[in-house]
Amino acid sequence: MDGSALSDAFRVYLRNHNLPVTPQRLAVAEVVSSRERHASADEIARALSAGGRAVGTATIYRTLELLVRSGLVMERDFGEGFKRYESARGMPQHEHLFCTTCGAVVEFEDDRLDRMSTLLAESHGFTRSSHRLVIYGVCAACRRAS
Ligand SMILES: [Zn+2]
Ligand SMILES: [Zn+2]
Repeated sequence: MDGSALSDAFRVYLRNHNLPVTPQRLAVAEVVSSRERHASADEIARALSAGGRAVGTATIYRTLELLVRSGLVMERDFGEGFKRYESARGMPQHEHLFCTTCGAVVEFEDDRLDRMSTLLAESHGFTRSSHRLVIYGVCAACRRAS
């Protein structure tokens, strides 16, 4: 999905919640959805200033918080000490592989995992609603390089 669709949805969310619709906030939303997925706040800040639309760090964090709260953006934590962000729109449930050497993030989907997690939940008396999985390892490019 392109950047304008996410910022349009964000504009509606802000209006519905009586929050100011500012060009800075819309610019952050645009970058989150148009940039490579799983960008950090730092990467978002750099992309904004590279595009001649520098936005203060506090505004970026506050906007990301709003985007996450609105459900338009998902926050991901790969244990790096900072969060990464990806547009939640048009995106089915997916899992991540994370390279502990270069920080590359790869997405994948697998129906077997969904079925397995349902079975696991049920065997513990749970009704499954969702799950989250990150597989840590070394990516093919880093393995070749070493
Ligand atoms: Zn790697
Ligand atoms: Zn993802």
